[in-house]
Amino acid sequence: MLDIQKIRNDFPIFYQKVNGKPLVYFDNAATSQKPTQVIEAEANYYKEINANIHRGVHTLSQLATDAYEASRLKIQQHINAKFSHEVLFISGTTHGINLVANGFASFLKLDDEVMVSALEHHSNIVPWQMLCEKTGAKLVVIPMNENGELIQSEYERLLSDKTKIVTVNHISNALGTINPIKWMIEKAHKVGAAVLIDGAQATPHLKPDVQDLDCDFYVFSGHKICGPTGTGILYGKEDWLNKLPPYQGGGEMIATVSFEKTTYAELPHKFEAGTPNIAGGIVLGTAIDYLNEIGFDNIAAYENELLEYGTNRLLEIEGLKIYGTSNQKTSVISFNIDGIHPYDVGTIIDKLGIAVRTGHHCAQPIMDFYKIPGTLRASFAFYNTKEEIDALVQAVKKAKMMLL
Ligand SMILES: *Cc1c(COP(=O)(O)O)cnc(C)c1O
Repeated sequence: MLDIQKIRNDFPIFYQKVNGKPLVYFDNAATSQKPTQVIEAEANYYKEINANIHRGVHTLSQLATDAYEASRLKIQQHINAKFSHEVLFISGTTHGINLVANGFASFLKLDDEVMVSALEHHSNIVPWQMLCEKTGAKLVVIPMNENGELIQSEYERLLSDKTKIVTVNHISNALGTINPIKWMIEKAHKVGAAVLIDGAQATPHLKPDVQDLDCDFYVFSGHKICGPTGTGILYGKEDWLNKLPPYQGGGEMIATVSFEKTTYAELPHKFEAGTPNIAGGIVLGTAIDYLNEIGFDNIAAYENELLEYGTNRLLEIEGLKIYGTSNQKTSVISFNIDGIHPYDVGTIIDKLGIAVRTGHHCAQPIMDFYKIPGTLRASFAFYNTKEEIDALVQAVKKAKMMLL
């Protein structure tokens, strides 16, 4: 099993105190912490091989290009994409969803339907609303139940030949629900709809297999999987990426340019205009190596243990309610205490060195569903411990005593 103390030593951020207390970091669903291996790889890139890629014949440019393309291959393998040119470097999940939504404008017409779910992050809602405004297509929402699960019979009922794309998260950031995406993809394909999976919350916990899932697009952020901010991956099936128009124009994405006509580069470069986050792209590969070395099976097993322990311990607190109670969920606990605003609890426990998220978690429709202003959200990673959960429980009890 995992040697958590050894793992924690990889994370310099835990060497310090916050507000005079050892840092208990339970905001992993917002961003993960970074191990020394990743931090040093980023510094080493700038110390040793910094140069622009795909352009120069000089040695450093080739080294940088090779490292960048090697990272792409590593990520292709990690998600089991069929071709490396189906793996696009992007700046994060938000960028990837906007890229696809923007491209779909050329495929949609009046009265076509775009289907999102009630469990989505704002970045998987707003780009599609913008698309619908532009094209006259209709936004259709798969509803959820009290447990924070999508209602499967409603999904089946809403699908039709009008549905052109279904876009749904693999795992909900606000509640932790794991959606039955493989089944959903199969159903969507039966009516001829494409499917985009927002994997931002799934990739920290599991290794997605895009060929097995048979999704058309899969998108995730580097910063949630121990990688740098401003990095991410959009996987797209070759056919779709060939059909989709480019998102941004500029250098790198062209084959030939004249004032009369420009032709676009082959995949993946067609979607990678301009100088990318070269260091970030390379180091994202380092982060994935780091996680694979620990092993996703080990990570998932340990995080499930933390989830179960955290759930039981928090429920000891009278008046505490957990939102998101599906039996298919990951290590995210969203909760409130009767009669107390989540913000007040969050502020007090921060003074005790405990970092949780408070608010709507970029998922206001979910909060509206439960008729609450927001929740406290504790999200656990493989470097967290049961002792830290005990500290959280104690801090929440203290905050409750002060506020009630
Ligand atoms: C974090 C997150 C996003 C947005 O990711 P960015 O890195 O901010 O672009 C989208 N969807 C889900 C489910 C998320 O957790």
